[in-house]
Amino acid sequence: MLKKNYILSPGPTPVPERVLLAGAQPILHHRTPQFEKIFAEVSESIKYLFQTKNDVFIFASSGTGAMEATVANLLSKEDTAIVVVGGKFGERWEEICKAFGVNVVRIAVEWGDVVSPVQIEEAIKQHPEAKVVLTTISETSTGTVSDLEAIAEVVKDTDKILVTDAVSGLLATPLKMDEWNVNVVVAASQKGVMLPPGLAFVAIDEKAWRLVESSDLPKYYFDFKAYKKKAPKQTPYTTSVSMIFQLREAIEMIKEEGIENVWERHRILADAVRAAIKALGLELLSKSPGNIATAIKVPEGIDGLQLVKVLRDKHGAVIAGGQGKLVGKIIRIAHLGYMDKFDMITAISSLEMSLKELGYPIELGKGVRAAEEVFMREGV
Ligand code: PMP
Repeated sequence: MLKKNYILSPGPTPVPERVLLAGAQPILHHRTPQFEKIFAEVSESIKYLFQTKNDVFIFASSGTGAMEATVANLLSKEDTAIVVVGGKFGERWEEICKAFGVNVVRIAVEWGDVVSPVQIEEAIKQHPEAKVVLTTISETSTGTVSDLEAIAEVVKDTDKILVTDAVSGLLATPLKMDEWNVNVVVAASQKGVMLPPGLAFVAIDEKAWRLVESSDLPKYYFDFKAYKKKAPKQTPYTTSVSMIFQLREAIEMIKEEGIENVWERHRILADAVRAAIKALGLELLSKSPGNIATAIKVPEGIDGLQLVKVLRDKHGAVIAGGQGKLVGKIIRIAHLGYMDKFDMITAISSLEMSLKELGYPIELGKGVRAAEEVFMREGV
């Protein structure tokens, strides 16, 4: 039987038709006035996504490139970074720091738990030499969202720079860079921004720029100063021209919906999935589940890798499994980016059928019903 492909993973996420078509325009040379006009417009309008007036640099890379760029541009040899590690992407911050010879003060958080602002405060007190605090607003590997606003409150009156990885969090959970005093926000195209993979973003404020001025770690392609010099009309190297067209269209769509409504849509979709999981008698992994992706513990007696395969191969539903130490132990259903209530119904329905096919005692339709009830209650 014909089978459609449903992308229900926390990245890459579905791309709207309007955005796909925007990428189908003929290429403009990136050094022409026509393209410069578009790039300057996008450099300005992208600030809305970060709720900032600061510069946002656009890189032709995936999110990890922007993470690496942030470490390489803010820090210097022998510097110390406080790093929150509560999942695979916190680990990535740590690995990048180590690759650049930066000393790491690790705040280890159980996977699925969140760091408390008090822990950050303590680490800053004990390590006055630290220059940055590296956090992850949405730890995609565990479906956990941290209270970045409260963390920023603790960091803002110190000389430390607060950096957050919002690769999966941007647009899916409230993040107000300027109002909250977050100094650097890192993001990427293939999640809440509704674009294909291939662009990464770094929003940076003046306080953080002071570190850039003194940084002596090696860098070339990702040198922020080179990007600043060319801003806002150009990038130092060839940008992903077609993706800039797509970004312009995606920002337009986000503006039309309104960022508060985008956050709220993610909240409703996540609530529906959580209600379905509860109705099915399954368990969430996270103690602070966010609105990006719901991490669900694989029930006893079921092979987690097999479950992801059945969902994908039998039903066409591409969800994510576990990463790192959670491989085979969880599955993750995303409600991220260009998704609506029927994407969630698809995810829940195919999860119900897959579990039943694998012999798990489940009442078909129970999760779907719970999700529908949330949608009805929310009036969507
Ligand atoms: N950080 C987070 C929180 C992520 O979810 C991801 C991607 N899953 C990354 C960083 C890495 O991004 P990329 O795969 O685009 O390099």
